[in-house]
Amino acid sequence: MRYAIISDIHSNLQALQEVLSLIDRLAVDRIICLGDIVGYGGDPALCIELVRQKCFQVILGNHDAAAVGLTSVAYFNPVAREAALWTGRVLTPREKSYLSGLPLKDDFGEFEIVHSTPDDPALWRYLFTEEEAGPLFDCFSRQLLFYGHTHFPMVFESSLKEVLFHEPEDFTLDSQIRYIVNVGSVGQPRDGDPRAAFALFDSGRNEVTFHRQPYDIAAAQRRILENGLPQILAARLAYGS
Ligand code: ZN
Repeated sequence: MRYAIISDIHSNLQALQEVLSLIDRLAVDRIICLGDIVGYGGDPALCIELVRQKCFQVILGNHDAAAVGLTSVAYFNPVAREAALWTGRVLTPREKSYLSGLPLKDDFGEFEIVHSTPDDPALWRYLFTEEEAGPLFDCFSRQLLFYGHTHFPMVFESSLKEVLFHEPEDFTLDSQIRYIVNVGSVGQPRDGDPRAAFALFDSGRNEVTFHRQPYDIAAAQRRILENGLPQILAARLAYGS
């Protein structure tokens, strides 16, 4: 089975469309979405529609939860809060009820998925370091966990004695090692590369590969500005930061 794992679309329709068309060409069996379909960008409704059509499973992100009032925006920075409140105003009751019904995590047998961290997903904690990753390996049971939330693709691997950070380079699973993999962000990359990010997991080959896809950034920026969202949200897309 070939899985495409996408995350953190953030209402960026242009990035999502390009990623989905590349995924089409990569002969993927199932597309899995790790949440944050909405927030920041100008096309929440169309992104929800596409994700509903194309994805085999979708889980809840903190920006999805914020847009429908499931989590407080009090801890959001002012720009994120403004975008979340705008998103909440423009979504229909049907779109909101779809987001409200998304689970916080899932288990596919071959791997597990969560938006933030597997200990308590609704706390929306960030995982960046080996120190943070260590205890989290006790919070899921499969060999492989995919997550998003930070918008930085990266890999943590846990062997008998140590947890190590790795750059997001393609790898084959070693049966003695467990992995936590961040797939990066489709719609608002923050690792300095403005191209949309996602990952593929081929369960037959036991292989994880990382992918980047250019898209029409100017068009996504226009949609942010046309909707009166903060300019910084448009500007940052050009830098991938
Ligand atoms: Zn996000």
